[in-house]
Amino acid sequence: MKYDCIVIGGGASGVMAALSVCRHYPNCKILILEKEFQLLRKVEASGNGRCNLSNRNIKSENYYSLQAGKSAKQKFLQTAFNIFSYADTIEFFGGLGVPLRFDHSGRAYPYSEQASSVVLTLTQALIKSKIEVLLQAEVVQIKSIDKSLELTVEPYKTVKQKRHFAYLNSAQTFQCKKLIVACGSKAARNLGGTDSGYQLLEDYAAISELRPGLVPLNLIMDEKAQSLAGQRFKGSARLLFKNKVLTQNSGEFLFVAGGLSGIAAMELARFLPQDNQANQETIVELDFVPDYQLSEMEDFLFNRRKILAGQNNDFSAVGIVKEKISDYLVQRAGTIKNLAPLMKSTSFKVDGSKGFPAAQITAGGVCLSQIWMPSLALKSQPNIYVCGELIDIDGKTGGFNLQWAWTSGFIAGQLRDSF
Ligand SMILES: Cc1cc2nc3c(=O)[nH]c(=O)nc-3n(C[C@H](O)[C@H](O)[C@H](O)COP(=O)(O)OP(=O)(O)OC[C@H]3O[C@@H](n4cnc5c(N)ncnc54)[C@H](O)[C@@H]3O)c2cc1C
Repeated sequence: MKYDCIVIGGGASGVMAALSVCRHYPNCKILILEKEFQLLRKVEASGNGRCNLSNRNIKSENYYSLQAGKSAKQKFLQTAFNIFSYADTIEFFGGLGVPLRFDHSGRAYPYSEQASSVVLTLTQALIKSKIEVLLQAEVVQIKSIDKSLELTVEPYKTVKQKRHFAYLNSAQTFQCKKLIVACGSKAARNLGGTDSGYQLLEDYAAISELRPGLVPLNLIMDEKAQSLAGQRFKGSARLLFKNKVLTQNSGEFLFVAGGLSGIAAMELARFLPQDNQANQETIVELDFVPDYQLSEMEDFLFNRRKILAGQNNDFSAVGIVKEKISDYLVQRAGTIKNLAPLMKSTSFKVDGSKGFPAAQITAGGVCLSQIWMPSLALKSQPNIYVCGELIDIDGKTGGFNLQWAWTSGFIAGQLRDSF
């Protein structure tokens, strides 16, 4: 089976890459090989089913790279976003009949606020563009033979599902002139996450260290603290290692069984020290009332006590924080004098994170130094292009990761020569 271009992976970046190839080379014979029983599984789950697919504030500051220095990362991303940024995303989805809407913080969603409508629209675009798709087809090897690439592909699980596309029954080889690797990352295995992409490319490019990103933290919690599970709060947090601040963040937090979730907590995870021993000395320090100074909170609590003297809740923080959080802080404080300091700074030991299965993204991937920009071809094999989360770029929450998938997919699909 011979194709002009094969895309490995039918996630956000792979689908965008295939559509981009078709736009730039309308006569190109294109195939997407996807190991799952359907395309775009993570897109379907994104934004709690609403699909936060971009953000007005697309800047390199909202992205990280584990291996590249700040200026290399900035140059790489600026070049990429000059080619395809959020304005192009609006135009792209608008052109497919999906207008976007923005919330107050600049997050972009399909107007329907329904991720499945994005999946359906992209699927229809592939069908209309006559891009071939083969599902349950896992690429297990890439071989460079003269000027072409040969892929060994095996059937992946057999799940009876309604499919829009054909699926693979038995092992086959495929050849192509240009290959786009869009295998995503190992985060969220239940939605297709895998380390297959890193393995396929290990002979072609250096891969950085990999860390779970955007994932809840594991906290060491005694029985009293366990009662906090399910409680949300808006506050701020500092992550410390041996008393040194690693990072800080503010926003929404959610206590879960044995841990801390919520967008603001999940963004802390990529900064955790990787050494397990070291984790024993990692602490998260929570401020439940970041809008108040300590002295203001002390005055407030003492006045409150005077007003409510003799009532059950004269020594509590009910009304400032949720009742269960107040109960916990009061128990931990013991005296009213200790309550305000605890509201400003309650510490828990951190025991790593909930790991790759619970992570939304992976930090790290194919090192930027291994990739030509602006083509996204590999320096070692310029007929292989890479895009999406497989690359050592990860974004904050807010639509930055999907925007990176659209941007890098579009660029890879230009199939620019790299010399
Ligand atoms: C629960 C959840 C919610 C999220 N919400 C948001 C959000 O609201 N906004 C946002 O910006 N980002 C969000 N993200 C992150 C975002 O979904 C990803 O960054 C994005 O999907 C990455 O796109 P990708 O194409 O690189 O990888 P993927 O979407 O993971 O696609 C890779 C595809 O390649 C396939 N594949 C892998 N290896 C092979 C192989 N060897 N052969 C064949 N196929 C293979 C996989 O099955 C997969 O379908 C969320 C992620 C999760 C898990």
